[in-house]
This record gives sequence, structure tokens and C-alpha cells, in this order.
Amino acid sequence: MEIKVVHQILEWNEDVSDKIKSELKVKKVCLVNIMGSPGAGKTSLITTLIKGLSDKFRIGVIEGDIQGQIDAEKMKLLGVPVVQLNTDGACHIEAMSIENILPEFELDKLDVIFVENIGNLVCPAEFNIGENMRIAILSIPEGDDKVEKYPLMFQTTDMLVLNKYDMIKYFDFDEQRVIKNAKDINPDISVFKISNKTSEGVLEFIDCLSDRITETIN
Ligand code: MG
Ligand code: ZN
Repeated sequence: MEIKVVHQILEWNEDVSDKIKSELKVKKVCLVNIMGSPGAGKTSLITTLIKGLSDKFRIGVIEGDIQGQIDAEKMKLLGVPVVQLNTDGACHIEAMSIENILPEFELDKLDVIFVENIGNLVCPAEFNIGENMRIAILSIPEGDDKVEKYPLMFQTTDMLVLNKYDMIKYFDFDEQRVIKNAKDINPDISVFKISNKTSEGVLEFIDCLSDRITETIN
């Protein structure tokens, strides 16, 4: 007899994710799930987004880390409400954690919540956390084979940010390969080439993100 396999945790996660989505829709808050490897530049990019978007939107941040609060402290310096989520060893954020954190925010006073997911390209992509939008960050030094190796991350993201683009002259990084592979599995993906360090491409990315947030909350 065939053995039935039940994916209980993922299914349950989906229920909670849907619940968060409806709650945030009522509150007109856009949740953005930001993913990428350790060192890809997630925290720095969120810092830039806060600076670039805070004249238009009221922003909150959830900082996911296995432990510690280094990144949350950086956000706090910018004057935005921030909650540090420590997963105590877990390598991704689940919807239940977001549900538990949301009461910490005054949702009526927010337009956007950026969630910095745990740094890895694997399981964060498997768990919806009630987000309206996903941003995957891939930095040039990580290499141009990541879409092939970690397809789910790039298949499920709305935006792909190629960060540290100023470094491309120092690496054998075939950007056409990355873009082609990403579009093959995700035809609607938007790709941005940016350097958070030199600010190249940053304004264009912020403008596009701003439009999408506006569409979501109106
Ligand atoms: Mg970080
Ligand atoms: Zn994980």
C-alpha cells in the first residue's frame, strides 16, 4: 500500500500567511519579504530604502536573525519602528512568527513593513509570510550560478536585485546568464542592477518599488 505523505507544517504556514495578508490588506500595509545570502547586502539595502522612501511612506522593519540584534540597532538609528526576530537556530522565518510580531506595531500608522529574512537562498523561499512582494538580492561576488543552484528563490521572487554591481569588473560574473536563467523560470521577474555603495541604479529601483507599494496599499 502506498504511504500518504502530509506536508503539515507548510500547509499550516500557508493558512497563517493568508490570514496575515487579509489583516494587512484591511490596514493598508504592504509587507515586503527581503531575501538573500549572508553578506548580499540585505541590511544595507533596507537602510537605503528607508532613507529613499520615508518621505512617501511610513515604514516599519522586522529584522530576522538567528541570534543577536546588530541589524535592528542599525534600523533603530534611522528612527523607524523595528522588531528583532531571533529564530534561535532556525534558518528561515515562518508566517507564525510574523503573526506574533505584528501586534508590536501600530499598523494604522504604517504603510510598509520590510522583513529581512534569514540569510540563505534555500528555505526562506519555501515559506510565505503574508508578504505582498518578494525581493531577492544576489550580489556579484556570490557568482552567476545561483539561479541554477537555488531555483525556487528566483522563481518565486517579484524583483531580483543584482547588488554590488560596481564589483562586476573584478569577477567572472555573466549577468546575461543570470538574467536569462531567472526569466526562464520566472518570466515576470524584474531585474535591477545596483550598487548600494556607489548608488548606481538605486534611484530607479526605489522608484519602481515605490510604485508597487503605492499600488498595493491603494
Ligand atoms: Mg542583515
Ligand atoms: Zn530554514
